Amino acid sequence: MLQQDQILEFQALLLAWYRSAKRDLPWRRSRDPYAIWVSEIMLQQTRVAAAIPYYERFLDRFPDFAALAIAPESELLAHWAGLGYYYRARNLQKAARSIVEKGNFPSTYADIRSLPGVGNYTAAAVASIGFDLPHAVLDGNVFRVVSRVMNDFTDISLTGGKLHFAEIAGRLLNRDCPGEHNQAMMELGATVCLPRNPQCLVCPINGLCAAKAAGAQQDLPVKSKAVRTLEEHRTVFWIEQQGRVLLWQRDAASRLMPGFWELPEAEQIGQPDVIATLGSFRHSITFHSYRFEVIRAATPGGTGPCRWLGVDEIAKLPLSTTARKARRIVAKAGILHSVAAAP
Ligand code: SF4
Repeated sequence: MLQQDQILEFQALLLAWYRSAKRDLPWRRSRDPYAIWVSEIMLQQTRVAAAIPYYERFLDRFPDFAALAIAPESELLAHWAGLGYYYRARNLQKAARSIVEKGNFPSTYADIRSLPGVGNYTAAAVASIGFDLPHAVLDGNVFRVVSRVMNDFTDISLTGGKLHFAEIAGRLLNRDCPGEHNQAMMELGATVCLPRNPQCLVCPINGLCAAKAAGAQQDLPVKSKAVRTLEEHRTVFWIEQQGRVLLWQRDAASRLMPGFWELPEAEQIGQPDVIATLGSFRHSITFHSYRFEVIRAATPGGTGPCRWLGVDEIAKLPLSTTARKARRIVAKAGILHSVAAAP
């Protein structure tokens, strides 16, 4: 562990670097806890560049928790469509409604942590950035930075390992400006202390980094639990008839994307007559990797749970991410146009 004077040096170097080198991201222009909370929830499973336009549109349409609380669900989901993991949007709204009932955005770590969909990381981020509360964040970037600076081979995939690094991150935290410190740690991990190719030569804390001194940067952090990816092949059908397309809607109580519209698979409509293969795309959900084939097919005998919907109509519906990807393939094949132009 670093000595107290080294910790102070670490904090000062990190902060000076962050203030001069940080990326200009829209959520960094605000200290509004609501805006920070929305950005943190969006960034949970979404890359920064992909999240920016969603964040801006979301804040335009739902500028505060009161607006979010009364938003129609279809509109909420339409603003989230493409980001995936839709339970995040539903939890945001659920939390916004409970905030409206209480009257104010929660201002303690415990109260922020008690909101639906908010875990330790998000609570620490909102508490520190929005309220200057001294709580250290711990995400993949911070694990990497801390384990390398300390040259610490404790396994981060074990509960004990997480607690161990949480304790160290807490000791490194700059209590004068915890929000900026947390953002600086994450920024360093995201832009300099990279997983495969850490940029040690330009790193502001390279003089204090024990892994650099030992030449062990690439071996850290230690994560023993291997992630197994399951591969699966699936087929969705594009079935058109007189300018309308066959889709089905997930049940409102469904665990996965409730209320969203999907293109049918054999499970819904059996095996229709195939006209042509239009293309394929990949889609991953946690440890599942799917390869979807998009097939243009003839009208089946029955439509099962599906409904016929006009092409213009489906553009305004909350479509699942896979349905949107399939629709792009259909558009590329020129089929969307022919359907829209049909009598
Ligand atoms: S010196 Fe290298 S390994 Fe150490 S914190 Fe900086 S970038 Fe990471």
